[in-house]
Amino acid sequence: MIMPSAESLSSRHLIGIEGLSPAEIGLLLDLSDRYVDFNRSANKKGDALRGRTIINVFFENSTRTRTSFELAGKRLGADVINISPEVSSVRKGETLLDTALTLDAMHADLLVVRHPESGAVGLISQKVRCSVVNGGDGAHEHPTQALLDALAIRRRKGKLSGLIVAICGDILHSRVARSNMILLRTMGAEVRLVAPRTLLPAEVERYGVTVHSNLSEGLKDADIVMMLRLQQERMRGSFVPSTTEYFRFFGLDSQKLAMAKPDALIMHPGPMNRGVEIDSDVADDINRSLIQEQVEMGVAVRMACLDLLTRDLTGNEGPAE
Ligand code: ASP
Repeated sequence: MIMPSAESLSSRHLIGIEGLSPAEIGLLLDLSDRYVDFNRSANKKGDALRGRTIINVFFENSTRTRTSFELAGKRLGADVINISPEVSSVRKGETLLDTALTLDAMHADLLVVRHPESGAVGLISQKVRCSVVNGGDGAHEHPTQALLDALAIRRRKGKLSGLIVAICGDILHSRVARSNMILLRTMGAEVRLVAPRTLLPAEVERYGVTVHSNLSEGLKDADIVMMLRLQQERMRGSFVPSTTEYFRFFGLDSQKLAMAKPDALIMHPGPMNRGVEIDSDVADDINRSLIQEQVEMGVAVRMACLDLLTRDLTGNEGPAE
């Protein structure tokens, strides 16, 4: 499929993959590719965002996303500040919107926000003057994760269109699954969701995906196997009998992986729960596992997002070719 190219994003916020056109996704991935090269060079300091202020506001735990947004901003020359609710006025009863408005009043150029409630980050974007990027909101969306996953896949397989991608595990509580299925379908991939029925959202087929409750069946001839963690923090009640039983039926090991194509690649957004959704043998297989590469792509994708979302402010042109 030949994608028309876009020159800029139509919004100054990135709240979700939903609403992005194939051309906008293509633009973000192409620029991310350039930032991968930039990050692999000895001098990793650019000035596209010099003078800009980025504030990371994370109301949920994060290792990869927060660190890579911080690195991305710093590598582009921005001033980056991190705020955690434990030591902010949220503890004194300040509302989410008041916190966001306070940071906006300090002339932040861009807020990266992670919040446990679906929709919270979109709401902030409607109230502030600065750009807002969603670092994950509840079970809703995690757009930069889907972009980095797409970049990792496209760099290895040379395309997204026509690939069979099996997304396996706790789909119900996963913003990663949601953003990924929207992106992959938009870009012409075939998406299969593999999960126990208790961990599948209702009417999920409306996204143009197929649903499987048997892992081996769902993995048949897959090009990409994406495993997801059981999102215990969002579960109200018990969704699986035990983690041991879950691993037996839904955990990826080399035996089940044998159902996928011989050159199928394994992905996981992290954090991994080894022995629950994935066996160490496959997670650490340097020939098949893309997991560390996903982390590398995360910095480049976040640089591309920060760059494109602030371009009208800076008039910068991105990194040199
Ligand atoms: N890190 C991803 C997220 O924030 C996946 C996960 O937590 O399991 O959604």
